[in-house]
Amino acid sequence: MTTNLRAQFGTDKGVLSRYLAKPQGERCQAMYIWIDGTGENLRCKTKSLEKEPKTVAELPEWNFDGSSTGQATGVNSDVYLKPVAMYPDPFRLGKNKLVLCETYTHDKQPTASNFRWRCEQVMAAATEHHPWFGMEQEFTLLDIDGHPFGWPKNGFPGPQGPYYCGVGANKVYGRDVIESHYRACLYTGVHISGTNAEVMPAQWEFQVGPVEGIDMADQLWIGRFLLHRTAEDFGIIASLDPKPIQGDWNGAGCHTNFSTEKMRAEGGIKEIYSAIEKLSNAHNAHIAYYDPKRGKDNERRLTGHHETACISQFSYGVASRASSIRIPRQTDAEGFGYLEDRRPSSNCDPYSVTEAIVRTCCLDVRK
Ligand code: ADP
Ligand code: MN
Ligand code: MN
Ligand code: MN
Ligand code: MN
Repeated sequence: MTTNLRAQFGTDKGVLSRYLAKPQGERCQAMYIWIDGTGENLRCKTKSLEKEPKTVAELPEWNFDGSSTGQATGVNSDVYLKPVAMYPDPFRLGKNKLVLCETYTHDKQPTASNFRWRCEQVMAAATEHHPWFGMEQEFTLLDIDGHPFGWPKNGFPGPQGPYYCGVGANKVYGRDVIESHYRACLYTGVHISGTNAEVMPAQWEFQVGPVEGIDMADQLWIGRFLLHRTAEDFGIIASLDPKPIQGDWNGAGCHTNFSTEKMRAEGGIKEIYSAIEKLSNAHNAHIAYYDPKRGKDNERRLTGHHETACISQFSYGVASRASSIRIPRQTDAEGFGYLEDRRPSSNCDPYSVTEAIVRTCCLDVRK
């Protein structure tokens, strides 16, 4: 059944590669990518450029039909695309580009799901702190019918235990997607730092970092685009839902590791505890920033079980995976390093998450 479905929707990639191998002349393809009205899904469309662009400044603004993406009404539907970052395209190769964009309304205001401009302002105000981030993107692979990839069609796999960092056909499902995505990240320059199979079978994680300032969220969004796009090539869906399967199965998060220059220097642990104190006073405000539904999505995930802390209570601890904030063992031992905020959900907007952390910890803005 599954195989038939995939065959039905699939096409012959060998035939495709004959066309992709043809010379393309002077002109090149730029795939413009943006966050749609949901604040979590990505859209993209392609534009021809007369020659290869060398900088973002050379990329033209563009627009799209916002009434089809939840970003405008039908009578006034044009939404502007403002290019903000450019990467080599690992799918079309050659001089072709991926272009990450911000979205602006007809009167040049940021759309309701454009949180990048605000993040950029906050990062600009905090440059002397040199804020570094490392984000751990968890996700679940689904078959084309929406069922977790590799799971029995009528039932469940054996209970959690053997799957985390597993190896073998009965332990991990969909590794081809993960391997392809990793290389796609390396090719584009997304600073991927690793990957692992997760506790729930068909769930995986990739990490991006450490990356400084606004680049963190730009790179994670492109990393997500690469994930959806590589999975598409295999007829597989990558879901960022924070609790895809009810019951005794782990949810998916986007742990955000954070440090400032002072935290990374000798004696930095003092700075880390001071940041934790500030975070403890802004817990509810941060929860509202940590998923696209102002905390509603995380209610399903932050239950106090399955390696999470309860959503309603702030907590921290050394090496504790049942806390809101974890201080890594090595950071505690060395007396400097970073902290891990375990609260952001897998479908969070990294612009909102990194902005909130820097605002609270570096700019001392009480929310
Ligand atoms: P975990 O043990 O929680 O699973 P991971 O190894 O998955 O941790 O992810 C840790 C992330 O933290 C990586 O992306 C790494 O690049 C990042 N990181 C390492 N050092 C720092 C630092 N000083 N500041 C911010 N992030 C860091
Ligand atoms: Mn049209
Ligand atoms: Mn991890
Ligand atoms: Mn994980
Ligand atoms: Mn983690």
